[in-house]
Order: sequence, then structure tokens, then C-alpha cells
Amino acid sequence: MAGRLLAIGECMVELMQADGGLMRKSFAGDTFNTAYYARQFLPADWSVDYLSAVGTDMISDEMLAFMQSHDVGIDHVARIEGRSPGLYMIHLKDGERSFSYWRSVSAAKLLARDGDRLRSAIEASDIVVFSGITLAILPAEDIETLLAELRRARAAGKRVVFDPNIRPRLWDDAEYMRATITEGARAATLVMPSLDDETTHFGDASLEETIARYRALGVEDLVVKDGSEGATLVFGDKRSHVPSAKVETVIDTTSAGDSFNGAFLARLATGASPEEAARFAADVAAAVIQHHGALVARDKLAKE
Ligand code: ADP
Repeated sequence: MAGRLLAIGECMVELMQADGGLMRKSFAGDTFNTAYYARQFLPADWSVDYLSAVGTDMISDEMLAFMQSHDVGIDHVARIEGRSPGLYMIHLKDGERSFSYWRSVSAAKLLARDGDRLRSAIEASDIVVFSGITLAILPAEDIETLLAELRRARAAGKRVVFDPNIRPRLWDDAEYMRATITEGARAATLVMPSLDDETTHFGDASLEETIARYRALGVEDLVVKDGSEGATLVFGDKRSHVPSAKVETVIDTTSAGDSFNGAFLARLATGASPEEAARFAADVAAAVIQHHGALVARDKLAKE
């Protein structure tokens, strides 16, 4: 059955160190990466759209063209005069990656300014994806606007998917971060956290505590990702564990979680069981971490 997936968040310009001081330009961002991977595995009668904001400059035009070239719809990307997309740079030194960000005045911070725009985009969708990074970049009043629309979507029976994706450097205050992530989860039907992040930033002593904390908020379904240890699925009363695919040499873990999310949602949307979807997602994520960059080409990913 045809459907529509909408991802909400910030896509950035990525500059990666190449040879001789040159920089290679690309575009990436957690929720956009998830949209990209969902698009790879959803059938053609599904649409995948991104909701965000960019500027009116050339790099914004290029970003939108990039999204369209990957068949991600841009009708819900606002154009804001005088703003530009956020940018980050990846430095490689002795095989270690470090990141610098220029995103404090990015256009995407205004993505939830217009509640009517949010509402019409969300109402037209079956699956809505957002993350802790989506929330982290928004002013407090816009977080409330977005969460109110997501709660409406949840009440209307849509699948609302939240990856907490906890990035402390994006938040001024740890207590506020935890409270906002918690509100995000409360608006969702499916939460897809990474166990690592949850134990570090919420102080959970175990997987059990992470699951119990989210279930106590009324979250129906959970996929707790744990890197090479696999993922634990809690769907209603049913609980299971799906191992990770074996990877001998990890090249670049960028987008492991995002690709897992996108592949998982694509399979779940088209009738797979959560376990089947997670096994497929683990294969896709395993392929992704054996290549450089956030967005790995389809022909290098898991076969159908
Ligand atoms: P995030 O990137 O969000 O922190 P994880 O590190 O938990 O997420 O990884 C997401 C998924 O990627 C895992 O559930 C697993 O399927 C896959 N993955 C990550 N690291 C490895 C690894 N070393 N070997 C195999 N699979 C991995």
C-alpha cells in the first residue's frame, strides 16, 4: 500500500578533507540520512519528503537539487531570505575524525516557525520522523509548536518516530536537554535510541532501565540500538533481540544509526515484522560502516 514518509530536521553542508588541502563537499544530517536510506528501500509508490528550511543562496539551491536527485521531496523545505544552511567540516588526522560546526544561525533553526506549514505537511504523511537534533536546534517556543503537531499526528494514528540522538554540545543545559528529549519521546509512537547515548546522558544503569524509562512515558514501541551488540525490540508486549551483522573492519561509523532507522522503517512500512525489519536494517548499517561518508550509494548496500 502506498504511503508517505516525512522526515523533519536539518541537513547541512559537509566539507571533508581531501588531498592537498582541498575539501570535498557533500550534504548530510541525521534525519536527512534516515530519509535517504528509507528512500532506497521503500517501493516507488511511497513518497519520502524532507521538512526543513534553507536560504535563498546558491548553496541552498545545490542542497535542494541534491535532495531531489535522491528522490527526496522538497515541497516542505522553506526558503528563508538572508539565511544559509549550517556547515560542518570533517578533519582527518592519523585516521581519527574530528568535526567543526558552523550552524548557530542556520536556516534550519526556523523550520518550525510556521505551525500551519508543519500541520499540513504532517497531516499529509503516514510516518513522521524527527530526532533529538531536530529539537536541539529549535528555539523553545518552536519546540512546543512542533511537538503539538506531532502529538496530533500520534492521536490521529500516524507512526511518529523519534531517535533521541543525544548531542550535548547542541544543548546549553543538560537538564533542559533531558527534559526536552523526554517530551520528544512522549510525542512519539516509536523511539529508536542508542543505548550508549542513553546510559551516558540519562544515567541508565542497564538496557532494562532505558526500556522502562521510555515505556513509562507511554511509548508503545522501542528499538534500542547497541552498536555491534545488536538491537533490542519492544513492540507492544513482544520483546526480541536481533544481532548485528558481523563486520571485520569498520571504516566509518557515520550514519550507522541513521541508516539502520531508514532501512528499518522502510521494511516495517511495507509489512515486515519488526524482527525482519531489524535484521535487514542491521545488514544495511553493516554495509554503511564499511564505506566512507554518511550516504552510501545503493549498489554498495545490502541486496534485497
Ligand atoms: P548510532 O550510530 O546511532 O550511535 P549504533 O552505534 O548503535 O547507533 O549503531 C546502529 C546500528 O549499526 C546497530 O544497531 C548495528 O546494526 C550497526 N552497527 C554499528 N556498529 C557496528 C559494528 N561495529 N558492527 C556491526 N554492526 C554495527
